Amino acid sequence: MLIFSPTTIRSLNPQPLPYLSFSHSISLPVPLSSLPTPSKSPHFPSFRINCIDAAQPFDYESHLKNRYIQSTSLKIAIIGFGNFGQFLSKTFLRHHHTLLAHSRTNYADLADHLGVSFYADPHDLFEQHPDVVLLSTSILSIETLLQKLPFQRLRRNTLFVDVLSVKEFPRNLFLKYLPPDFDILCTHPMFGPESGKTSWAGLPFVYDKVRIGDEESRIKRCDKFLDIFDKEGCRMVEMSCMEHDKYAAGSQFVTHTMGRVLEKFGLESSPINTKGYETLLNLVENTKGDSFDLYYGLFMYNQNALEQLERLDMAFESIKKDLFGRLHQVYRKQLFGDNNGEVEKKRSLAQKLLGNGSLTEPPLDNVRQDGS
Ligand code: NAP
Repeated sequence: MLIFSPTTIRSLNPQPLPYLSFSHSISLPVPLSSLPTPSKSPHFPSFRINCIDAAQPFDYESHLKNRYIQSTSLKIAIIGFGNFGQFLSKTFLRHHHTLLAHSRTNYADLADHLGVSFYADPHDLFEQHPDVVLLSTSILSIETLLQKLPFQRLRRNTLFVDVLSVKEFPRNLFLKYLPPDFDILCTHPMFGPESGKTSWAGLPFVYDKVRIGDEESRIKRCDKFLDIFDKEGCRMVEMSCMEHDKYAAGSQFVTHTMGRVLEKFGLESSPINTKGYETLLNLVENTKGDSFDLYYGLFMYNQNALEQLERLDMAFESIKKDLFGRLHQVYRKQLFGDNNGEVEKKRSLAQKLLGNGSLTEPPLDNVRQDGS
């Protein structure tokens, strides 16, 4: 860059020059050829370069970087800015996307702090014409919400994404309520604020491109969104919503159920925790932060969940039967080797161990004296 000191400029021409501007390159309002040159004018001092290594106003690298960010960044509107919506937004921002949000509760201050623009009114939000509208509301509230959203304010081919923990249910609602021009991507990041606290690397991200238009821009937009999770190192799993629900009922619903059962049971840390016990404590830790709405949604809106709950119940009963069946044999052996006073003690001990006594324990009177 050339820098001309004011004195130099003044001495260029005794008559003030009409206008000289120096920006990225030197631009002169008059052609250079019309300026007096030293050869033509003996009084004309030559241009003097004062500095050649000053910071460039036109930083090519940062300009390129900005252009790259602009070309890959999306305007994402998150609807449902609760626990999970906020968690996702932090990572989206790190990927240089523009974040807007709307929620039932006013999260304006919190959003402002994060760098997200909060809109209390969904009409105002949709008038910003986001590229992507991401639904992160509770499973239970999604249908009521979809019936109220002002789709007419959006661009005609907006991409709708959901992150609900069940998949067939929102897929069917999207197909029912969204205008036919909108693209649909159903996703389930299979981690949460606790399990994905430090990193998303290796964590499963399930998605189903339910309806993505053929145009290159639409395909790219969807890919850009998926890229966030890919670049974070998630294990990208493309599968149908139906398959997801089948697998998730057997894994996720059972995990949440066991976490809740153990929480109710009241697990406590001790100075001699084993690794297995630590795993149970972690399970409780991972699931207790999730709302009951979420858990209830997993049960209500995944048609495979009830079957899994019944299987779990049967498995528990079966384990109890195995245990008490063996206890019964030990008890009988001891019973017939003992005197009568001990028999009464053992009977009450067994009843205590059996809890409500629901298991079939033959009354002592019916036991034959030969021990059979
Ligand atoms: P959640 O209890 O399932 O949902 C809370 C969100 O739903 C909040 O944004 C809340 O808005 C909104 N909401 C609840 N009732 C509403 C209603 N009647 N009308 C409008 N909005 C309502 O808890 P979450 O953990 O934030 O989960 C959000 C979604 O992400 C769920 O669909 C869940 O399945 C999915 N997900 C969660 C996790 C996780 O680990 N937490 C992981 C993967 C996927 P306000 O806060 O404004 O009240």
